Amino acid sequence: MKRLVIDLGHGGNDSGAVGQNKTHEADVVLAIGKELNELLKNCEIEVKFTRLENKYLSLSERARIANDFKADYFLSIHINSASDKSVRGVEIWQYSNGNTKMNNFSKRVCEDISKIFNSRNRGVKYSKALSVLKNTTMPASLIEVDFISNNRS
Ligand SMILES: [Zn+2]
Repeated sequence: MKRLVIDLGHGGNDSGAVGQNKTHEADVVLAIGKELNELLKNCEIEVKFTRLENKYLSLSERARIANDFKADYFLSIHINSASDKSVRGVEIWQYSNGNTKMNNFSKRVCEDISKIFNSRNRGVKYSKALSVLKNTTMPASLIEVDFISNNRS
């Protein structure tokens, strides 16, 4: 059975981005994680969450959990924020040090989430700065599900 680690960004004294009505990114991704935990129970996949409560974890701990679990895939869930109130949509980040290490995992997750939630597909982006992507040993992606700073409507 394939193994997936789902990392819920931020937590504890790290609230992440703060949206309208003082919504905290850490709480939104925790709510998404709790729902995914229920939904994935009936799937043929072994899932481990880096947290399912409101607690702080360092970035290196998050990567270590995935590596120790020998995950086949790693997905870190975040919510975007922007000062431009008109931006919307889902984007996904993948590690690249220049030699693009494209994995279909990022592309497919981004396309699927965009379709399911009928939100704009902002595509796959590359970074060599994101610690959880750099320090995990399996195909790893960081998804920014939508913008906490902006209303959907
Ligand atoms: Zn975040």
